[in-house]
Amino acid sequence: MLRVAVVGSGPSGVYTAQSLVQLEPGVRVDVLDRLPCPYGLVRYGVAPDHEKIKSLQNTLRTVLEHERVRFLGGVQVGPDGVPTARLRELYHAVVYCVGAATDRQLGIPGEDLPGSWSATQFVSWYSAHPDAAQDGFLRGVRSAVVIGVGNVAVDVTRMLARGAAELNATDMPQAALNALAESQVAEVHMVGRRGPSQARFTTKELRELSGLPGAEVVVDPAELALDPACDDPSALPAAQRRNVEVLRGWARVPPRGAPRSIRLRFFLRPVRLLAERGRVAGVRFERTAPDGHGGVTGTGRYEDVEAQLVLRSVGYRGVPLEGLPFDAADGTVPHLAGRVLREGVVVPGEYVAGWIKRGPTGVIGTNRPDAKETVVSLLEDADAVVRRSVPEEPVAALRATGVEPVTWAGWQAIERAEAALGASLGRDVVKLADWDSLLAAARTP
Ligand code: NAP
Repeated sequence: MLRVAVVGSGPSGVYTAQSLVQLEPGVRVDVLDRLPCPYGLVRYGVAPDHEKIKSLQNTLRTVLEHERVRFLGGVQVGPDGVPTARLRELYHAVVYCVGAATDRQLGIPGEDLPGSWSATQFVSWYSAHPDAAQDGFLRGVRSAVVIGVGNVAVDVTRMLARGAAELNATDMPQAALNALAESQVAEVHMVGRRGPSQARFTTKELRELSGLPGAEVVVDPAELALDPACDDPSALPAAQRRNVEVLRGWARVPPRGAPRSIRLRFFLRPVRLLAERGRVAGVRFERTAPDGHGGVTGTGRYEDVEAQLVLRSVGYRGVPLEGLPFDAADGTVPHLAGRVLREGVVVPGEYVAGWIKRGPTGVIGTNRPDAKETVVSLLEDADAVVRRSVPEEPVAALRATGVEPVTWAGWQAIERAEAALGASLGRDVVKLADWDSLLAAARTP
């Protein structure tokens, strides 16, 4: 029997487990996660109002309930938990599917002011991540600036502009729902440093910004005119062309003065965050212009946008895992078709899949072929790695390191507690938002 540990139970980890059991009848897979809950960014990243994408949890669940797959939550891999070297002794092969655990920084003055956050911190808060900051993100906020024009920026912009009534049916934590119900946010500025034809959001996500009750999208035709590709989008790749067409349609409609406006801005690069009484009060942008090669140059003209909340949404970034090589330039682990490379040499038995392998790009489905590539590499090495003897039951060895894993039954107990919490609040399922509640629920038979 080939024994494999998959570290991380997000989409890449679960698709790795799925490929393993589909392609190899003689494999047993333990999927470890530092959280007591499975599904990674599907649970803690996908916006609560994206019910269809969230329902992917049902597909991932069938994998984790497979007879040769086991979920072991609450297992931290690394210096504060099970060292990677120890894990390697417990399994024939380890696949790291740890994602990109942090966010990129802007590197501009004022970035650390109170009221300035990464979009991922805001997402963690409304997604009930147990490590999320509980600051009053929205207290006293009339105007918010979201820096970046990718799909995460679209998610946080939409959540800021959506009314709480529409979110009542989601599994958002009650505190975040209450804060959104009391929100006074009237303007959300989503700002790109390059042009509309270079924005990273996808058209389906972009379109969702219009049609939110009580909100309107405002696009300045003069900013579209700065992008030569907007004049004649026919030469653009299909995805960008569709984005430009949607934006041009919105730019033709004059603002009607809705209670909340979503202002999509382009060719503005952030240069500093402005402060008032020790908190963020706005963002100074420099107007940019296309350089003719897909980039932009500064123009020396500046514009200040008022904001009591600034969310930088400029991409995720992988973090090094103790005991594994790391390419600091792109935040990934060097690999050859998923096999970890140590100083350019493959060491059979160590693999990567997902964002820590290819960087934080693509949609959830991108992880399927990515995971399969890694699993094919692993199975090619199987004859070699399986010769090493490993314990029959690694959980006993994990317990010996002081770790008490949350089993699938523990996770199901969390699910029951979340259903009960929802019922007590007159809502459907409501997520538990802190470690104590999650662990107490997991230990309740
Ligand atoms: P992203 O798609 O890489 O977008 C990052 C944005 O930040 C870009 O607009 C980028 O502009 C901008 N940026 C980077 N550095 C900047 C700087 N110093 N100053 C100003 N702007 C800067 O990242 P993401 O939105 O975090 O998304 C990550 C991945 O998750 C993507 O593949 C995304 O599609 C996926 N995702 C999908 C969904 C969905 O399908 N519903 C939802 C969320 C996330 P430049 O282009 O100029 O660099």
